[in-house]
Amino acid sequence: MSEVLNVEDIFASKVFTLGKMKERLPKSTYKEVKRVMDQGGELSLAAADVVAKAMKDWAVENGATHYTHWFQPLTGITAEKHDAFVSHPDEEGRMIMEFSGKELIKGEPDASSFPSGGLRATFEARGYTAWDITSPAFLKEDATGVILCIPTAFCSYTGEALDKKTPLLRSMEAVSEQALRIVRLFGNTEATKVVASVGPEQEYFLVDREKYLQREDLIFAGRTLFGAPAPKGQELEDHYFGTIRERIGSYMKDLNVELWKLGVTAKTQHNEVAPAQHELAPIYETANIAVDHNQLVMETMKKVAGRHGMTCLLHEKPFAGVNGSGKHNNWSLGTDNGVNLLDPGDTPNENIQFLLVLACIMKAVDTHADLLRQSASDVGNDHRLGANEAPPAIISMFLGEQLEDVVKQLVETGEASHLIEGGKLKTGVSTLPDFDKDATDRNRTSPFAFTGNKFEFRMVGSADSIASPNTTLNAIVAEAFCEAADILEKADDFDVAVHDLIKEYMTKHQRIIFNGNGYSDEWVAEAEKRGLPNIKSMVEAASTLTTDKAIKLFEKFGIFTKVELESREEIIYETYAKTINIEALTMIDMASKKYIPAVMKYSKSLADTVIAVKEAGADASVQAEILGEVSGKLAAAKAALTNLEKVTAEATAMEDVKAQAFFYKDTVKAAMDELRAPIDALEMIVDKNVWPVPSYGELTFEV
Ligand code: ADP
Ligand code: MG
Repeated sequence: MSEVLNVEDIFASKVFTLGKMKERLPKSTYKEVKRVMDQGGELSLAAADVVAKAMKDWAVENGATHYTHWFQPLTGITAEKHDAFVSHPDEEGRMIMEFSGKELIKGEPDASSFPSGGLRATFEARGYTAWDITSPAFLKEDATGVILCIPTAFCSYTGEALDKKTPLLRSMEAVSEQALRIVRLFGNTEATKVVASVGPEQEYFLVDREKYLQREDLIFAGRTLFGAPAPKGQELEDHYFGTIRERIGSYMKDLNVELWKLGVTAKTQHNEVAPAQHELAPIYETANIAVDHNQLVMETMKKVAGRHGMTCLLHEKPFAGVNGSGKHNNWSLGTDNGVNLLDPGDTPNENIQFLLVLACIMKAVDTHADLLRQSASDVGNDHRLGANEAPPAIISMFLGEQLEDVVKQLVETGEASHLIEGGKLKTGVSTLPDFDKDATDRNRTSPFAFTGNKFEFRMVGSADSIASPNTTLNAIVAEAFCEAADILEKADDFDVAVHDLIKEYMTKHQRIIFNGNGYSDEWVAEAEKRGLPNIKSMVEAASTLTTDKAIKLFEKFGIFTKVELESREEIIYETYAKTINIEALTMIDMASKKYIPAVMKYSKSLADTVIAVKEAGADASVQAEILGEVSGKLAAAKAALTNLEKVTAEATAMEDVKAQAFFYKDTVKAAMDELRAPIDALEMIVDKNVWPVPSYGELTFEV
């Protein structure tokens, strides 16, 4: 028998939870902390000192030697700089470990090497990190030892956000404030805030580490840049929800334990559609904690894979021809007195507050479809969105049959008098129970689907931070709530006004509703007719951040200034150009040093064979034919390689970042595809024993 795993004991054992604070802090300090957490404001320095000491004592008792302000710069991952708790030794040479309130609250990392999009000239490269008291501190344990990690926001000397957390926190406050105005209109006087909650489902691939190390493309780009399809892909649909193999199972077990210790509620695990693809989903929590935890999930996935002789690939498209990975971002809003604003109840047609919230979200998503699409873009996700894979790049909303019918009634008659019922699901087997059927089936092809009491935003990329999508969601919904509240608060007859407003919003924005197959070509044509944006790439989406509409939205709620938005747009171009450049250089390297030499060797041995067979007086036509084919493809590969070298050099020399990013997208990527084609074709005909890297089959089936 394996040892008993006591989840209750290990859960959050590495987290400085509220419970631990309650135990370790004087009552008055604890109260102050709790007040700041719930209501905002600042902790006094005196209280911060007390908290810092308690936090340090707890950390040191658990083996910590260092602390770090853990933050989320615009690289999309996390950053940390460790400081030991050591101080000056005393007269007798004794070390007293120290950690002050000031050190807890504020840090000053040299910020000059993080992306800033021109926000911070290097001469004032100061950056500040500030403790996000609402996200608990935790211990990270690895070969470095035990490090106390303090979640922080990161901004410049002049106060501009340089990270993903600051705008997210600003957006959470905005949507809370505006949503509160809405619930007040319906007589809720108790709620003091509205919390955005998020549950992200994380997809990932696992490959054998030895094989991974033989492929520069996986090492440098995180995805395969070459590779012929394996004879078997995902067509049998036998991997999805399939039995989890032992090696993967032992990885999942280890991963869960690590995550539970960190207070992450790892809940669901299963095999995904593509071979070697899997998924983990935690239980939802407050948006900023969910964002922090998702970063920890991604980091822990990679770390634990190493222990099992595997590598975790979080890239959105590690392998061509099979599904890529995304992150379904489940999002909803709830008051602190327990009301989920997205819960329709049993009779949504009579639930006026729900219908108003729904109408506002329809308005928000339709008005800012471009921004929402942008928020889910990263370099890897370009391979999924709009590239024949889930989901399309066009934003639409799926409401399901029942709600769609309610909307239709409201638009047509102003009343929603009846409700499509779910009825019973008959199994036809006497020993099985009949279920109450949901009134609505699922739709897997919609990028923004209503799923019972939340929306599931399915566009987000697997490697990306979920901060931006949630910042955008909160912001656009805050705006719609604000505009609705402005009207309704002034209304003489609330009932009439709210009724009219719901009808107006739903009528104006019903084009955003689509319940059909989002992957079909008909939808692309239909969406165009409806005037919905279809933004095909990350670089094309970047400028949506700086339209007048976007600047007005984000400035109104203090989420981004115009300058911050401009800097973010610039960072997108830079990131894109740099990433594609790395991919192009990796292809050049692999083609010149691995594939072409291997194919040359193979063609030499073919040529030798042709001569030998002829000399022996036999028919060498088959050998000669293969040689001809190999030589032809080799010539094509060499020509494509030369061209890729040329356009990559051209791209590198460009000065305007936007033009450069577009050049990488349109010209360099095309040249990459041209090089890949003959090499992949060669992989299908060249002797396996001379092929220089592990194949798709070996990578995805032999894990
Ligand atoms: P499925 O795979 O069917 O979409 P799962 O149950 O696996 O659904 O995942 C759904 C995710 O949505 C989970 O992370 C869950 O915690 C989260 N979720 C459930 N309710 C809410 C809510 N009110 N707000 C945000 N996320 C939620
Ligand atoms: Mg899902």
